[in-house]
Amino acid sequence: MLSRSLLWVSQKPRVQELVTETPLTRRVVDRFVAGDKLEDAIAAIKDLNSKGIGGILDFLGEGVADAEGASAAAADYLSAIRRIDETKVDTTVSIKLTQLGLAFDKGSCIDHLRVLTAEAQAIGAVVEIDMEQSDYVSDTLDVYRVLHADFPELRLAMQAYLRRTPVDLQMMAAMRPKVRLVKGAYAEPEAVAFQKGVEIDAQYIWLTDWLFQQGRDPALATHDFKLIQHAKSAAAHAGLAKNSYEIQMLFGIRREMQEKLAAGGHRVRTYVPYGSAWYPYLMRRLAERPANLGFFLRAIVRD
Ligand SMILES: Cc1cc2nc3c(=O)[nH]c(=O)nc-3n(C[C@H](O)[C@H](O)[C@H](O)COP(=O)(O)OP(=O)(O)OC[C@H]3O[C@@H](n4cnc5c(N)ncnc54)[C@H](O)[C@@H]3O)c2cc1C
Repeated sequence: MLSRSLLWVSQKPRVQELVTETPLTRRVVDRFVAGDKLEDAIAAIKDLNSKGIGGILDFLGEGVADAEGASAAAADYLSAIRRIDETKVDTTVSIKLTQLGLAFDKGSCIDHLRVLTAEAQAIGAVVEIDMEQSDYVSDTLDVYRVLHADFPELRLAMQAYLRRTPVDLQMMAAMRPKVRLVKGAYAEPEAVAFQKGVEIDAQYIWLTDWLFQQGRDPALATHDFKLIQHAKSAAAHAGLAKNSYEIQMLFGIRREMQEKLAAGGHRVRTYVPYGSAWYPYLMRRLAERPANLGFFLRAIVRD
């Protein structure tokens, strides 16, 4: 409930102004975001790689409102892919489709994503599609289905809190989709999404089992220990090796667990966001954990 209220309040322009204009917010941003520049993210990924952890590079930005903005975001992603090739870091590339214009021109969003996925494929990198607010889910699935024919390695994020997700997955069963399973990070109404942690966890477990049976190379993106334990035992039960699935976490959250899992032979990837459009990303991270609000407030009143 607190989370939903915080996400709702964070959309008010006055609140955004207050948070972004306070220089002290930077400390909190630095915990969750690698930096403003691509090179900051590359450095963070190199550091992760040295610990046996892969990266998931994310250029922050969403809800782009015009064709120029979408083209600019696509150009930034293209530079990022070229830099991955030059530096040879081990990372995937994660993209929000509203950054490529999904909200106003699905056709050109598909065109942009096709170019980026082909470039990434040419250097041996995989593209991952983030899942955004429920209003965009159907269009995101359409884009994924169109591109899957040519790029079956594309990974798609699916949200366990959405009531519709089991049906969406079932409809894609024949494609054996490569999914990143997340709980879901947006404020959604009860008619669309489960609100209670126990219900979301139950659906996450059901979907994990589905992905091990009918998906391909599942990625379990969670910091929730019991859900990671469930994935481990589901894999063992299916006779699958530790490297037949991936565990994904976010930059700045549960670093020790990430390193421990990697040291124990698990495939781990960390989502590394960079860029100056960090506001909505930061608000989702604060909303996920009420204790973060205290951390935020302490950081801005310290000094
Ligand atoms: C790699 C990755 C990609 C993601 N992609 C998407 C996406 O495309 N679409 C989408 O809707 N959501 C995405 N998410 C976010 C996801 O939906 C959840 O909001 C987020 O992961 C928190 O849920 P949890 O599974 O970690 O469980 P929780 O129950 O929220 O957290 C479990 C424990 O992890 C720690 N923790 C979790 N979050 C935080 C935090 N913000 N700060 C500090 N500690 C924390 C706490 O110790 C908490 O007790 C992604 C998450 C990951 C890890």
